[in-house]
Amino acid sequence: MHQPVCFLCGKTDFVYHSTSTDIEYHTTKDNYDFYECQNCKLLRIDPIPVDKLSIIYPSNYYSFLKNKKTIVDSIKEWMDKRLFTNVLGKLKGDLKVLDVGGGSGWLLNVMKSLTDRVKFTQVVDLDADAEKLARENGHEYFCGKIEDFKTNQKFDFVLLLNLIEHVENPLAVLQGIESVLTDQGLVLIKTPNYDSFDARIFNSWGGLHCPRHWVLFTEQSFRKTAEKANLRVESLTYTQGAPFWAVSILGWLQKKKLVNVNAQRPAIQHPLFPVLAGLFAGFDLLRKPFAKTSQMFIILRKK
Ligand SMILES: [Zn+2]
Repeated sequence: MHQPVCFLCGKTDFVYHSTSTDIEYHTTKDNYDFYECQNCKLLRIDPIPVDKLSIIYPSNYYSFLKNKKTIVDSIKEWMDKRLFTNVLGKLKGDLKVLDVGGGSGWLLNVMKSLTDRVKFTQVVDLDADAEKLARENGHEYFCGKIEDFKTNQKFDFVLLLNLIEHVENPLAVLQGIESVLTDQGLVLIKTPNYDSFDARIFNSWGGLHCPRHWVLFTEQSFRKTAEKANLRVESLTYTQGAPFWAVSILGWLQKKKLVNVNAQRPAIQHPLFPVLAGLFAGFDLLRKPFAKTSQMFIILRKK
């Protein structure tokens, strides 16, 4: 059996965790195995489909950006605004902001609408179609992987929202981010937590986002990674994982042949998706005071 090496501890103490496939976008019929490092408590996919990016990120992957805003999007935007206002309040003077995986830069637009102190904005994203719109909105754009992004700029605020789990070596990415951070700089990260109820009950858990999530963390392994990248965890909170519930349940119903999710109509576009997402957003918010839900919000700063 091929034994993956852990990017964090460098060892091969992995045990089999689960097998999944793309239940969300149906870009492939291949099965992928997930292994857990016994030292670090992190999951990694095997094999890593590093040469299949154009297949596993289909052209409709970003389509939610072009569609009309739903009520869920509006609530999300309101919550993002509250979070950004909070973080921006901790930063002084004129600000440079980097959004990794930021697409057309719509979150940077939200941020600019909150304060005129944001003077320079940079997007790093794989999506070539988003570049034109991002530049029209006044953002600098690097089309490529964060690992390949070179800059002379230093940033006061870096967004890595649902990004760090998409890369092969999250430690190297965090080390790179640390090197472009100003002394007051903050990094806001959102990433799944697989030490959660929904992750345990579904064999094909939506949070695996198979095969696009290559590394998944728990609080413990995320803290260890940040520490090793010379970053300090300023705060770590849990938030609702409604989309993971919705994808997991649609995947389960699909297996029972009760719904039809396919490449033309991915899970996110199924009519049941917003219903399930709404229900489970409520469920997660209710249990949040007592349980670790399946998404983490983390704020980091230089040590
Ligand atoms: Zn490890």
